[in-house]
Amino acid sequence: MNDSVDQGPGVAALRPPCPRCGQPYNAEDAARHTEPVDCGGCHQCKGMPACFACGFMYCACDTHEHG
Ligand SMILES: [Zn+2]
Ligand SMILES: [Zn+2]
Ligand SMILES: [Zn+2]
Repeated sequence: MNDSVDQGPGVAALRPPCPRCGQPYNAEDAARHTEPVDCGGCHQCKGMPACFACGFMYCACDTHEHG
Protein backbone atom coordinates (compact mmCIF):
# COMPACT_ATOMS: atom_id res chain seq x y z
CA MET A 1 0.00 0.00 0.00
CA ASN A 2 2.39 2.64 -1.14
CA ASP A 3 0.72 4.07 -4.23
CA SER A 4 0.60 7.68 -3.15
CA VAL A 5 3.67 9.04 -4.83
CA ASP A 6 4.99 12.39 -3.74
CA GLN A 7 5.26 14.44 -6.90
CA GLY A 8 6.70 17.55 -5.33
CA PRO A 9 5.53 21.15 -5.73
CA GLY A 10 4.40 20.59 -9.32
CA VAL A 11 1.32 18.79 -8.09
CA ALA A 12 -0.39 22.11 -7.34
CA ALA A 13 -0.51 22.82 -11.07
CA LEU A 14 -3.11 20.11 -11.50
CA ARG A 15 -5.79 22.68 -10.76
CA PRO A 16 -7.62 23.30 -14.05
CA PRO A 17 -6.83 26.64 -15.70
CA CYS A 18 -9.37 29.42 -15.79
CA PRO A 19 -11.77 29.04 -18.75
CA ARG A 20 -11.79 32.82 -19.24
CA CYS A 21 -8.10 33.68 -19.32
CA GLY A 22 -6.49 30.26 -19.56
CA GLN A 23 -4.26 30.90 -16.55
CA PRO A 24 -3.97 28.44 -13.70
CA TYR A 25 -5.01 30.05 -10.44
CA ASN A 26 -4.82 29.28 -6.76
CA ALA A 27 -7.38 29.71 -4.01
CA GLU A 28 -6.19 33.27 -3.35
CA ASP A 29 -6.91 34.34 -6.93
CA ALA A 30 -10.06 32.28 -7.30
CA ALA A 31 -12.46 35.18 -6.73
CA ARG A 32 -10.83 37.17 -9.52
CA HIS A 33 -11.38 34.30 -11.94
CA THR A 34 -14.79 33.05 -10.88
CA GLU A 35 -16.78 35.90 -9.36
CA PRO A 36 -18.90 37.73 -11.95
CA VAL A 37 -18.35 41.47 -12.02
CA ASP A 38 -21.34 43.54 -13.00
CA CYS A 39 -19.34 46.39 -14.46
CA GLY A 40 -22.23 47.71 -16.53
CA GLY A 41 -21.89 49.77 -19.67
CA CYS A 42 -20.44 47.07 -21.84
CA HIS A 43 -22.49 44.10 -22.96
CA GLN A 44 -19.42 42.05 -23.85
CA CYS A 45 -17.79 41.90 -20.44
CA LYS A 46 -20.70 42.56 -18.12
CA GLY A 47 -20.97 39.67 -15.67
CA MET A 48 -17.53 38.33 -16.55
CA PRO A 49 -14.91 37.66 -13.88
CA ALA A 50 -12.28 40.37 -13.36
CA CYS A 51 -9.59 38.41 -15.19
CA PHE A 52 -11.57 38.48 -18.43
CA ALA A 53 -10.02 40.73 -21.03
CA CYS A 54 -12.72 42.46 -23.02
CA GLY A 55 -11.89 42.77 -26.68
CA PHE A 56 -14.77 45.06 -27.52
CA MET A 57 -13.51 48.08 -29.41
CA TYR A 58 -15.75 50.58 -27.65
CA CYS A 59 -15.50 49.10 -24.19
CA ALA A 60 -15.23 51.80 -21.56
CA CYS A 61 -14.91 49.45 -18.61
CA ASP A 62 -11.91 49.65 -16.30
CA THR A 63 -12.66 46.42 -14.48
CA HIS A 64 -11.83 44.19 -17.39
CA GLU A 65 -8.38 44.74 -18.70
CA HIS A 66 -8.35 45.15 -22.44
CA GLY A 67 -6.44 42.64 -24.54
ZN1 LIG B 1 -9.08 33.89 -15.20
ZN1 LIG C 1 -16.34 45.10 -17.93
ZN1 LIG D 1 -16.11 45.49 -22.16
